[in-house]
Formats: sequence, C-alpha cells, structure tokens
Amino acid sequence: MKELLTRFSELETPFYWYDLQLLDDTLAALNKANTEDYHVHYALKANNNPKILERIRKAGLGIDCVSGGEVKHALEQGFDPSHIVLAGVGKTDQEIAYAIDQNIFSFNVESIEELVVINEIAQSKGKRPNISIRINPAIDAGTHHKITTGTKENKFGISDEDLFASVDLIKSLKNIHFIGVHYHIGSQITDLTRFKNLAIRINEIQQGLIDKGIELPHLNVGGGLGIDYLNPDGNAIPDFEHYFKVFRDNLKLLEGQELHFELGRSIVGQCGSLITKVLYVKKSGQTNFLIVDAGMTDLMRPALYDAQHLAQNISSDSETQVSYDVVGPVCESSDVFNKGLVLPESKRGDLIAIRSAGAYGETMKNEYNLRPLAQGYYSE
Ligand SMILES: *Cc1c(COP(=O)(O)O)cnc(C)c1O
Repeated sequence: MKELLTRFSELETPFYWYDLQLLDDTLAALNKANTEDYHVHYALKANNNPKILERIRKAGLGIDCVSGGEVKHALEQGFDPSHIVLAGVGKTDQEIAYAIDQNIFSFNVESIEELVVINEIAQSKGKRPNISIRINPAIDAGTHHKITTGTKENKFGISDEDLFASVDLIKSLKNIHFIGVHYHIGSQITDLTRFKNLAIRINEIQQGLIDKGIELPHLNVGGGLGIDYLNPDGNAIPDFEHYFKVFRDNLKLLEGQELHFELGRSIVGQCGSLITKVLYVKKSGQTNFLIVDAGMTDLMRPALYDAQHLAQNISSDSETQVSYDVVGPVCESSDVFNKGLVLPESKRGDLIAIRSAGAYGETMKNEYNLRPLAQGYYSE
C-alpha cells in the first residue's frame, strides 16, 4: 500500500479505501467456483457503496436485504426486484407493503406471526408474494457469540418443530406462495465443517417436509463464509471453491430444486481498508499508545465483537519494532483497534492502514461524539 502514499496524502483522514480490482478478482473467483450456477445474493448490509454495488451487479449477483431501506437502495442501484430477497426478524407493515409492491423475489420470514401479517397485507393488495421460512437449525457456527445466529438462544428464524406444526396453517394462508426454506447460521465462519453440519441438518429437515407432502422449489443456505483478518495479503480471496463443494457434496437437492446463497463479508471484506493518521504517541506505564484519528465510530467491529483487524504503518521505514496499543479518540474504553501490536516505530503524522475493513465497516459508521463521517475512495 506504500505506493498509494502520495494519493493518500491528499485525502482527509480517516477515510475508507477500496481496491476495486481486488473486488473484481474476488467476484471473478466466486463466479468461476460457482460451477452449478447457484444463485448468489450479495448481503447488502456488509457494504452499500454504489461503486461496489455496480461491480457486484455487473458480476450477475442478486441482493439480500434486511430492511425496506436496503430494498429501496438496491433498486436505486439498478438491481432487478426478481433478484432481491428480504430477511429480518422485525419487518414493519410499511416495509412488507413496500417490498410486496416492488415484487421482490422472496421474503425470508422469521416467525409464524410475520407470515400471517404478510398474508393479510398481500390480501389487501390482491397479491401473492413468494415466501421462504427461515429455520433456526440449532447449529453452532463456532464463531463469536455476537455473530452467531443459528442456535436456540438466537432471535432468528423458527425451529423445524414449529415449522412442522404450522404446515396446515401455512397451507391455509391463500395470499402467500410458500417456495422455500432459508437458513443463515452466522458470520465469519472459517471452519467449513460447520457448513457441512448445516447441510446434513438441512437434509433431515427437508426429509421431514417431504414426509408431510411438501416439496419446495427453492433452498437458501444463507452466507457466513469468513475471511482471513490476520493475513489479508496472503489470503486476499476466500476459498469459494471448497465452500461450494461442501454444499455440492453434502446437500441432497430435490429434482430441479434451486440453491441460493447470501454472501456478504467474503465478497467485500478484503477490498477495503480504513486509512487513519497517528495523532499522538503516548507512553503510559509499560504501554505505548498509538492514538489515531479513526475510532469506533468509523469502524465498530473491534468494539462491538472484539474483532481483530491487522493495522499496518504504511509511512514508517523504521527498523525498530515497537509494541503498541492502537486506539481511537472516542470517549469509550472499548475504542481500541489493537492491543500489543508490533509495528515499526511510529510517529505523529504516520498513516496507518486498518485492513480487511470492506465488510461491516463503512455501513456501521456513525456520528457518536459528533464526529464527522469517514468518506470512501477507490482505486480503479
Ligand atoms: C448478514 C447476513 C448475511 C451475510 O452474512 P456474511 O457473514 O456477511 O456472509 C446473509 N444472510 C442474512 C440473513 C444475513 O443477515
């Protein structure tokens, strides 16, 4: 990244920097690995930057949304409504009505109560939207508890028992079209056996539905494939080939059944960095604090889920290695990016790149402490 220093010196820090060539390479690798033409919906909440969405749209992906605002944004960015799915445990009546009006591909429904509400709203409009039911498969994603979604303690989806018990009710709702089952067990999953376990559970649940006389044309296994936060250059592109293979080898699809994925982080995570400037170097006891001008308002992940991002000093050529706690300026003790990170000796004015910040970075930025919002820039 050193080669970008001249360009970076013209920009107000902190800012997000996106490598669009890496994004294109990642999308090409994804499409190459997707030999079965599975439907991949990009999870918009990971990054909603128009330039990034344009590349993703051109690569032929659909969109996975979690709010009416995201559906609107996806449509404004040129995505076809027939490629949009909408999840979320708390969809409002307005969001449901809006998504029905836009003729999105499918609602991923998270409770039986929601199903009844969608049916009512659809009835008032004389419509019959597609719905998939999100099942919480009670599979542990083996990731940080705040990004695990598929165990019993999580608010997402319904249990397979509840689905089986509701089959007659679902059949009685005339203004919904039950097309599939949806799963999403968590995020930043790097152990592929978790996905194998999911596939095996899905087969069981699918058999349960078949026993009840239900065969659905669509199956959606969600997203969650992780990236290598500690080695962003060595592992810039996730192993999509093995990821798809796990499902190809383990999932028993019905004749003609279409398989859907919802990938977010693995597509955009590595193409973004947060570039920040060292304000002060402060020694306190044995600790060297590198106080930078980016904070948890620009990148929430470390404060929110103890996430590790590699920070690199791209200005310093010093041979002296020093252990630093890299911290932001926000008035919260959780405003820490790294503890005990060894960097070349750093000084006021040096630029630090906080890597792998393309996913759940800029979309979570906020103005706490009335801080200005970091802007995004791109290398084409
Ligand atoms: C966030 C989310 C995803 C994407 O998760 P990643 O870990 O970024 O791949 C997929 N599906 C649903 C329902 C989500 O909420």
